Amino acid sequence: MSNIEITFASLNLAQPLMRAIADAGYTTPTPVQAQAIPLVLAGGDLLAGAQTGTGKTAGFTLPILHLLSAKPAANPRPGRPRCLILVPTRELAAQVEQSVQTYGKYLPLKSMVMFGGVNINPQMKALRGQLDILVATPGRLLDHVGQKTLDLSGVEILVLDEADRMLDMGFIRDIKKILALLPKQRQNLLFSATFSDEIKTLSDGLLHNPGYVEVARRNSTVELITQSVHLVPQKLKSHLLSHLIKHNDWKQVLVFTRTKHGANRLTEKLIADGIPAAAIHGNKSQPARTKALAQFKDGSLPVLVATDIAARGLDIDQLPHVVNFELPNVPEDYVHRIGRTGRAGSSGAAISLVDKEELQFLRDIERLIKREIPVVAIDGFVPPTHIAEEAPRPPRQAHGQRRNNPPRAAGNRNQPAREGQGQKQKPRNPQQREQQPRTEQQPRNSQHPAKARPPQKTAEQQHLSEAARHQAMPQPALFSPKPGVRRGR
Ligand code: AMP
Repeated sequence: MSNIEITFASLNLAQPLMRAIADAGYTTPTPVQAQAIPLVLAGGDLLAGAQTGTGKTAGFTLPILHLLSAKPAANPRPGRPRCLILVPTRELAAQVEQSVQTYGKYLPLKSMVMFGGVNINPQMKALRGQLDILVATPGRLLDHVGQKTLDLSGVEILVLDEADRMLDMGFIRDIKKILALLPKQRQNLLFSATFSDEIKTLSDGLLHNPGYVEVARRNSTVELITQSVHLVPQKLKSHLLSHLIKHNDWKQVLVFTRTKHGANRLTEKLIADGIPAAAIHGNKSQPARTKALAQFKDGSLPVLVATDIAARGLDIDQLPHVVNFELPNVPEDYVHRIGRTGRAGSSGAAISLVDKEELQFLRDIERLIKREIPVVAIDGFVPPTHIAEEAPRPPRQAHGQRRNNPPRAAGNRNQPAREGQGQKQKPRNPQQREQQPRTEQQPRNSQHPAKARPPQKTAEQQHLSEAARHQAMPQPALFSPKPGVRRGR
C-alpha cells in the first residue's frame, strides 16, 4: 500500500491520541509515521533511517503512548519509567518530551525530561512521583542512576533517537552502561539519520529481528531547498553575511560555524553591524541556550549562530535561510544542516560561504549529494577596504573524518573503532561531558599532536603558512561578475 492511502484512522491508534493528532492539525501521517507506527504497535524492534523534519518523533511517540496506555504497568513505582527515550542533546530532549506531552495530553501517562546543565534537584523531586516516559540525555541519566534516584528495571520500551549523533558525541560507553541496567525483555527502537559501521554494530547488538523503515533516502538533500555557494575569502565572510542579511532583509537565519569560538566572534560582529544575533553552543549556559532558541523561534531574534551539535535536532518550522559560514568537515553534516530549512513542505534557501581552502570540502559534499551546487556572485557587495586581521584558524581535518569519532584501527577500515580511543579529553563527570560535547572541542588532531602533525612543521608554522596562503588569494577575482556563473575550482 502506498503511503498516500494511509490515514491516521487506518493506523488504529487509541481515541485520545486521535484527538490530540486532530488538535495538532495533522491530517495525514508522514511517510515515517505511516511505516513505523504499525511496526511499533505490533511490538517488534525497529531500525529507522529518518532525520529531524520527517515527523519521526510522532512516529515513535504515538505508538508508544498507545502501547503504554493499553497495558497497565506491571509494577508501578515512583522513579521507575516504562519507556526510556535517549537523545543526544538537551534541546532535542526538551523537544521530544514536549511532543510526548502534546500527543499524550488526553492520556493519564506521566513524562519527564532529564538533561545536564541545570539543577538536578527538581529532577529528583519529579522522580518521586509517577513516571511512565522518560526522555533523557545519557550523562545526566547516569548521574541519577548513581544517586539511586532512578530505577531502570521497569523499562519496557527503549528508544535511541538520533543514534548516529549520540555515537558522534562519544556516548557509546554511556549507552552501553545504560543498556546493562535495562531488563532483557523489552522493545527497542533505533532512529538514525545515517547508517555508519558503528550504527550497524550498535543495532546488530541491540535489535532483535527488527522491522526496517527508511524515509528520505540517505544522504539525499531535500528537493525544496535552493542551494547556492558564494566564494569568499574567510576574512570577508562576516562582512558578506551582514551584507546578505541586511540587503535581502532576512528575518530568520540559522548560521552554522565550525567552532564555538567562531560562533561567538561572528555573533559579536553581527551585533556590531546592527543585526540582533545570539550564539548557541555547548559553552553557553542552558538558560541562555533556551532563551536564544525561544527568541529565534518566535521571530524576535533574526539570527541564531550555532555549532553542529547545538543545532542538531532543532525543530524550527519553515526556516527560510540556513547559512554555512564554514562548510562542515563531514559531508553528511551538510545534509543535516540544510535539512533545517525547506521543512514541512515549505521552500528554503541554504547558502554556503566558501573560502578557497574549503573547495575540497565542497567537492566532497557535491559528490555525496550527487549534484553541483551553483556558485553565485553577489550583486552590490563591496568588500571593505580595511579589514581587521583575524587570528589564524586551527588546522582542519580532511573531509570524511568526524572530528570526534574514535580513530579506526590501523589497516582495517571496516573494523568498528575501538571504544575509548580518541577520548583523551573526555571529562570524567558525564554531566560535564554533556555540557561540552567533544565535537565542539578542539579538533582531534590537537589531541594527538605527535601523530597528527607532519614532522617538519609545528602547528604554529602550519597555521602561519595557511594564513599566508589565504592572504595571497586574489580576493576580487572570487566574486564572479555574473550571478549563477560557476567559477573554476
Ligand atoms: P520531527 O521530525 O519529529 O522533528 O517533526 C517535524 C515537524 O513535523 C514537527 O514540527 C511536527 O509537529 C510536524 N509533524 C509531525 N507529524 C506531522 C504530520 N503528520 N502532519 C504535519 N506535521 C507533522
